[in-house]
Amino acid sequence: MKALVKRKTEAGLWLVDVPEPKIGINDVLIRVQKTGICGTDLHIYNWDKWAQQTVPVGLVVGHEFVGEIVEVGANVKDFHSGDVVSGEGHVVCGRCRNCMAGRRHLCRDTQGVGVTRAGAFCEYISLPMTNVWHHAEGVNLEIASIFDPFGNAVHTALSFPVLGEDVIITGAGPIGIMAAAIVRHAGARHVVITDVNSYRLELATKMGVSRAVDVRSTMLTEVQRELDMHEGFDVGLEMSGNSSAFCDILSNMCHGGKIALLGIPEEDTAIDWNQVVFNMLTIKGIYGREMYETWYKMTVMIQSGLDIQPVITHRLHYTEYETGFEAMRAGESGKVVLDWTS
Ligand code: NAD
Ligand code: ZN
Repeated sequence: MKALVKRKTEAGLWLVDVPEPKIGINDVLIRVQKTGICGTDLHIYNWDKWAQQTVPVGLVVGHEFVGEIVEVGANVKDFHSGDVVSGEGHVVCGRCRNCMAGRRHLCRDTQGVGVTRAGAFCEYISLPMTNVWHHAEGVNLEIASIFDPFGNAVHTALSFPVLGEDVIITGAGPIGIMAAAIVRHAGARHVVITDVNSYRLELATKMGVSRAVDVRSTMLTEVQRELDMHEGFDVGLEMSGNSSAFCDILSNMCHGGKIALLGIPEEDTAIDWNQVVFNMLTIKGIYGREMYETWYKMTVMIQSGLDIQPVITHRLHYTEYETGFEAMRAGESGKVVLDWTS
């Protein structure tokens, strides 16, 4: 089968033929239809320090996908050929304390699809049945292909109650702008998103934000005045990985504000701890998606009218993957979706 593989210890991904995966008795085999390119895939493409330390050479990469089941193992009773499914990208150990308690997103020994085990940028992927999400009837396949990052956005955005609250989101990347649409859907009053990239701020305006703020030219205190906010943001979602964005959040929260951190900091970050202590802020780190409460919420929010379609800006055939990676590298994209059906 065709697959995008990390063939060499240098920048790049290689479209090559590899053997189709075999399934075990607890696995399903999925014919991949559409895949999303994630920032993680770009790290692997670029072969940065993290990728060099994490990803085995020869791996089929990619983890955001939708496909159709074509074969199930002997123990698999709940899935059938023809089911439209996505895969949870974290394969957990099942034996650690948190796994045993049902808190699988907190597993201490997680493997990553397309990071440390064979991924989805290919024609067929094998996954344990415990990692398969059966989509609702009639799901839009493009949206289904990005459930993984949509789940990061949902997990973060719903970490704290947002009904009637004022929310600040730093980073209008694909995940930040999906989070904006989610908190709007969940009843937030003001949704302010920041970035330093005009293309992405423009995209964010299609997701129902109150303001899309370029922090190079506008202060958040100014925005708060314009919106007639007096005490600061109630909820902060950090989705840039940029340390000054995190500091922007800390300086603009109300007392008792709640902050969820999804962005992966590129460097050590010094913050003003006095803001945390004296303003009594709560800070929560977020990794992945809750298994499977986040997947449930994603499904029902789409069914209840949440529209994240504008986040998809590029639709390409898998052989055009270089174009997709280039758009992402340039920051001139929302989500890039690759088609694997022809
Ligand atoms: P992305 O890199 O596409 O988007 C980040 C955005 O932040 C960019 O548009 C960038 O211009 C913007 N930015 C840079 N400096 C800024 C500043 N000072 N203020 C405001 N915005 C600024 O990333 P993404 O795919 O949308 O993911 C968002 C973040 O979440 C990334 O850091 C990613 O690594 C991280 N992530 C974490 C998890 C997890 O499980 N914790 C999962 C997926 C992604
Ligand atoms: Zn575990």
